[in-house]
Amino acid sequence: MTEKAVLTSAPLLDEIQRLKEDRNAVILAHYYQDPEIQDLADYLGDSLQLAQVATKTDAEVIVFCGVHFMAETAKILNPEKKVLLPDLSAGCSLAESCPADKFESFIQRHPGHAVVSYINTTAAVKALSDIICTSSNMERVLASIPEDQPVIFAPDSNMGHYLKKRTGRRMEIWPGTCTVHVAFSAQLLQMLRTKYPDALLLAHPECDETILSQADHVGSTTAIIKAAVEGRAQQYLIATEAGVIHQMEQLAPGKEFIPVPTIDDCPCSLCPYMRVHTPEKVLQVLRDLSPEITLEEELRLKALRPLERMMALG
Ligand code: SF4
Repeated sequence: MTEKAVLTSAPLLDEIQRLKEDRNAVILAHYYQDPEIQDLADYLGDSLQLAQVATKTDAEVIVFCGVHFMAETAKILNPEKKVLLPDLSAGCSLAESCPADKFESFIQRHPGHAVVSYINTTAAVKALSDIICTSSNMERVLASIPEDQPVIFAPDSNMGHYLKKRTGRRMEIWPGTCTVHVAFSAQLLQMLRTKYPDALLLAHPECDETILSQADHVGSTTAIIKAAVEGRAQQYLIATEAGVIHQMEQLAPGKEFIPVPTIDDCPCSLCPYMRVHTPEKVLQVLRDLSPEITLEEELRLKALRPLERMMALG
């Protein structure tokens, strides 16, 4: 994770900085945020890293520049802190593809299964789960479950099938997808590979099999950034949300990062849910201390258990 100094020149950023100190606040931002949000964040990371930072910060207020389930996760882990989401409309197609009532019926239809849910889920779905995973630790989480016990995996079906193939585990997979990661075109990717024959393809496990089967490296957001920055190749084809390219360009300025186009031939695989935050909204949320994420304590405690099991794995 990158710890960043706040940029200082613009009056807007000065005011954000002043209010942040005044409120004893910290700004956390996901790699899929707009570059201007990434640059004003105190901490930048993927879901797992931001969840970990949220448990360690001394700040009383967390401004979460990510999507709703991430801010909710920060609240589950930090009930005593005020967790603010600059724009409450920051949802997630993947989390929304797994409603808690339907998931509960799915679990009931598969008795004896360990329930593993990806962190991209609502608190209500987390509360139904035995353990949470992220794209950084999913294989470690699966390995923590007795080998002879079948597993329910939710909500991302591409990630589930990828894991099933890699581990050989017996798995029932919830049929959810991320609209951003399923939009990459395998056909246009082939054309890019011809144009950039030496480029390595880096893909997130939420992509579908037609992309993953071609990838040189499949990994979490952080793993993809690391592979691009530390790899020997000079060119990389990026099959994940294009926000990661901002970090790659900062950390490896001499290399070339080419976003894989979507099926409608757009080189701009941006998550519409992530991109709703702006510096102006960050300023506003610091001023108003609202919108705030709140959770009923009973639900919070139920959602906390599977998260703690994941975090205990390190
Ligand atoms: S990129 Fe996909 S999984 Fe991530 S927040 Fe956006 S919709 Fe959800």
